[in-house]
Amino acid sequence: MTGTPVIGVLALQGDVREHLTALASAGAEARAVRRPEELARVDGLVLPGGESTTMSKLAVLFGMMEPLRERVAAGMPVYGTCAGMILLADKILDPRSGQETVQGIDMIVRRNAFGRQNESFEAAVAITSVPGGPVEGVFIRAPWVESVGAGVEVLAEHGGHIVAVRQDNALATSFHPELTGDHRVHGLFADMVRAVG
Ligand code: GLN
Repeated sequence: MTGTPVIGVLALQGDVREHLTALASAGAEARAVRRPEELARVDGLVLPGGESTTMSKLAVLFGMMEPLRERVAAGMPVYGTCAGMILLADKILDPRSGQETVQGIDMIVRRNAFGRQNESFEAAVAITSVPGGPVEGVFIRAPWVESVGAGVEVLAEHGGHIVAVRQDNALATSFHPELTGDHRVHGLFADMVRAVG
C-alpha cells in the first residue's frame, strides 16, 4: 500500500480515544467504527481494552458481530488489546454467560488471569518484532494466553505467561500500549495493514 492506511477502532465500549491517538501518531488515518458501513471502509481494525462481555453483547446488539467475524476471517488486519485480545480468542476458558467472541486467533485465553483491578501493574515487556528494547506493559485485570495452536507466533511472555501473539494478520496483547506514550506496537500494526494493502 502506498499512502496512509485507514485504521478503525471498534467504538462500542472501552478506551477508544487512546487508540485513535496512538494510531494517528503511528501514521494511520484513525476512525471510530460503530456500524457495519463504517467497518466496510477501513483497511484494519483495533479492538480496544475495556470489558469484553459488554463489548461482545453490544457487538451483537448493534449487528456488528457477524460483519466483524466475516472481515477478520477474510484476512483484514486486526489488533486486540486486553478485552480486545479476549474478543480475538477462538476459545475463552471462563466465559460469562452470553459472551461470544469474534475469533481469529487459535488460542485459549484466561480472563482476569493476572488478578483483579487493584492488582493491576506495569512491567517492561520485550516483544519479538518490536525493535528498540522492551515496551512498558500496562496490565489492567489482564488476560493471559493459556495455550496456542501451531499457527500462532508467541511475541512476548511475562512471568512465564504468554502476553502477546500474532497469527497471520491478527495481533493481540494482554496489555495496553495505547495508554503509554510509546506507540511502537501501533507502528507494528500499521505496518501489518500497509503490507496487506
Ligand atoms: N478483564 C477485562 C475483560 O474481561 C479486560 C480488562 C481490560 O481490557 N483492561 O474484558
